[in-house]
Amino acid sequence: MSPFEELYQEIVMDHYRRPRNKASLDHIPREMAHENPTCGDSIKLEVVVGTDDTVQSVRFDGKGCAISTASASLMTENVIGLTVAEARTYAGSFIRALRGEEPVEILDGMGDLAAFKGIASFPVRVKCATLAWHALLLSLPSASEEG
Ligand code: ZN
Repeated sequence: MSPFEELYQEIVMDHYRRPRNKASLDHIPREMAHENPTCGDSIKLEVVVGTDDTVQSVRFDGKGCAISTASASLMTENVIGLTVAEARTYAGSFIRALRGEEPVEILDGMGDLAAFKGIASFPVRVKCATLAWHALLLSLPSASEEG
Protein backbone atom coordinates (compact mmCIF):
# COMPACT_ATOMS: atom_id res chain seq x y z
CA MET A 1 0.00 0.00 0.00
CA SER A 2 1.29 3.47 -0.86
CA PRO A 3 1.69 6.11 1.88
CA PHE A 4 -1.29 7.93 0.34
CA GLU A 5 -3.50 4.87 0.50
CA GLU A 6 -2.47 4.33 4.11
CA LEU A 7 -3.32 7.92 4.96
CA TYR A 8 -6.71 7.58 3.27
CA GLN A 9 -7.47 4.37 5.08
CA GLU A 10 -6.57 6.08 8.35
CA ILE A 11 -9.00 8.93 7.63
CA VAL A 12 -11.83 6.49 6.90
CA MET A 13 -11.13 4.38 9.99
CA ASP A 14 -10.83 7.46 12.21
CA HIS A 15 -14.24 8.76 11.12
CA TYR A 16 -15.73 5.27 11.39
CA ARG A 17 -14.51 4.79 14.96
CA ARG A 18 -15.22 8.36 16.08
CA PRO A 19 -17.98 9.69 13.84
CA ARG A 20 -18.45 13.46 14.00
CA ASN A 21 -21.94 14.92 14.43
CA LYS A 22 -23.47 11.54 15.14
CA ALA A 23 -26.44 11.70 17.49
CA SER A 24 -29.45 9.72 18.57
CA LEU A 25 -32.23 10.77 16.24
CA ASP A 26 -34.97 8.61 17.70
CA HIS A 27 -37.51 11.38 17.10
CA ILE A 28 -37.12 10.83 13.37
CA PRO A 29 -39.35 7.95 12.27
CA ARG A 30 -37.77 4.84 10.85
CA GLU A 31 -39.51 5.41 7.52
CA MET A 32 -37.50 8.61 7.09
CA ALA A 33 -34.22 6.70 7.08
CA HIS A 34 -32.23 6.51 3.87
CA GLU A 35 -31.16 3.02 2.95
CA ASN A 36 -28.54 1.32 0.85
CA PRO A 37 -30.00 -2.19 0.57
CA THR A 38 -26.94 -3.48 -1.32
CA CYS A 39 -24.88 -3.23 1.86
CA GLY A 40 -27.45 -2.77 4.63
CA ASP A 41 -26.45 0.81 5.38
CA SER A 42 -29.15 2.95 6.96
CA ILE A 43 -28.94 6.60 7.88
CA LYS A 44 -31.19 9.27 9.37
CA LEU A 45 -30.28 12.88 8.85
CA GLU A 46 -31.26 16.06 10.65
CA VAL A 47 -30.35 19.25 8.84
CA VAL A 48 -30.85 22.70 10.37
CA VAL A 49 -30.76 25.66 7.99
CA GLY A 50 -30.63 29.17 9.43
CA THR A 51 -32.62 32.18 8.30
CA ASP A 52 -29.49 33.33 6.44
CA ASP A 53 -29.76 30.19 4.29
CA THR A 54 -26.61 28.57 5.68
CA VAL A 55 -26.40 25.03 6.97
CA GLN A 56 -26.14 25.44 10.73
CA SER A 57 -25.98 21.83 11.76
CA VAL A 58 -26.12 18.38 10.27
CA ARG A 59 -26.45 15.34 12.52
CA PHE A 60 -26.77 11.75 11.52
CA ASP A 61 -27.80 8.50 13.10
CA GLY A 62 -27.84 4.98 11.81
CA LYS A 63 -25.77 1.96 11.17
CA GLY A 64 -23.61 0.96 8.30
CA CYS A 65 -20.25 -0.15 7.07
CA ALA A 66 -17.02 1.79 7.66
CA ILE A 67 -17.28 3.58 4.34
CA SER A 68 -20.87 4.77 4.73
CA THR A 69 -20.29 5.89 8.32
CA ALA A 70 -17.02 7.67 7.55
CA SER A 71 -18.57 9.33 4.53
CA ALA A 72 -21.53 10.56 6.60
CA SER A 73 -19.19 11.90 9.27
CA LEU A 74 -17.05 13.73 6.71
CA MET A 75 -20.15 15.02 4.93
CA THR A 76 -21.38 16.73 8.10
CA GLU A 77 -18.01 18.39 8.67
CA ASN A 78 -17.77 19.61 5.10
CA VAL A 79 -21.19 21.14 4.60
CA ILE A 80 -21.81 22.86 7.92
CA GLY A 81 -21.35 26.58 7.30
CA LEU A 82 -22.07 26.40 3.59
CA THR A 83 -25.14 28.00 2.05
CA VAL A 84 -27.83 25.60 0.88
CA ALA A 85 -26.82 26.22 -2.74
CA GLU A 86 -23.14 25.60 -1.97
CA ALA A 87 -23.97 22.41 -0.07
CA ARG A 88 -25.99 21.15 -3.06
CA THR A 89 -23.14 21.88 -5.45
CA TYR A 90 -20.63 20.27 -3.10
CA ALA A 91 -22.69 17.10 -2.68
CA GLY A 92 -23.36 16.94 -6.41
CA SER A 93 -19.66 17.16 -7.24
CA PHE A 94 -18.75 14.46 -4.73
CA ILE A 95 -21.43 12.08 -6.02
CA ARG A 96 -20.58 12.67 -9.70
CA ALA A 97 -16.85 12.24 -9.08
CA LEU A 98 -17.42 8.89 -7.39
CA ARG A 99 -19.74 7.77 -10.15
CA GLY A 100 -17.14 8.64 -12.74
CA GLU A 101 -19.29 11.39 -14.23
CA GLU A 102 -16.66 13.96 -13.37
CA PRO A 103 -12.89 13.48 -13.06
CA VAL A 104 -12.19 11.77 -9.75
CA GLU A 105 -9.31 14.22 -9.28
CA ILE A 106 -11.75 16.91 -8.14
CA LEU A 107 -11.79 15.04 -4.82
CA ASP A 108 -8.21 16.22 -4.36
CA GLY A 109 -9.62 19.69 -3.87
CA MET A 110 -12.10 18.50 -1.23
CA GLY A 111 -9.75 17.86 1.70
CA ASP A 112 -10.14 14.54 3.49
CA LEU A 113 -12.81 13.47 1.00
CA ALA A 114 -9.89 12.55 -1.25
CA ALA A 115 -9.83 9.42 0.92
CA PHE A 116 -12.69 8.10 -1.21
CA LYS A 117 -10.86 8.42 -4.51
CA GLY A 118 -9.97 4.73 -4.64
CA ILE A 119 -13.62 3.76 -4.17
CA ALA A 120 -14.72 5.24 -7.49
CA SER A 121 -13.75 2.02 -9.27
CA PHE A 122 -16.03 -0.10 -7.06
CA PRO A 123 -19.73 0.54 -7.85
CA VAL A 124 -20.99 -1.36 -4.79
CA ARG A 125 -18.84 0.78 -2.50
CA VAL A 126 -19.83 3.95 -4.33
CA LYS A 127 -23.38 3.36 -3.04
CA CYS A 128 -21.99 3.21 0.51
CA ALA A 129 -19.91 6.36 0.09
CA THR A 130 -22.68 8.44 -1.50
CA LEU A 131 -25.62 7.40 0.73
CA ALA A 132 -25.20 10.27 3.21
CA TRP A 133 -24.79 12.75 0.37
CA HIS A 134 -27.98 11.65 -1.36
CA ALA A 135 -29.67 11.91 2.04
CA LEU A 136 -28.31 15.44 2.37
CA LEU A 137 -29.65 16.50 -1.02
CA LEU A 138 -33.08 15.15 -0.05
CA SER A 139 -32.95 16.87 3.35
CA LEU A 140 -31.95 20.35 2.22
CA PRO A 141 -34.86 22.71 1.65
CA SER A 142 -35.70 22.97 -2.03
CA ALA A 143 -35.81 26.35 -3.74
CA SER A 144 -39.61 26.28 -3.87
CA GLU A 145 -39.85 26.03 -0.09
CA GLU A 146 -37.73 29.11 0.51
CA GLY A 147 -39.30 32.46 1.34
ZN1 ZN B 1 -21.90 0.04 3.02
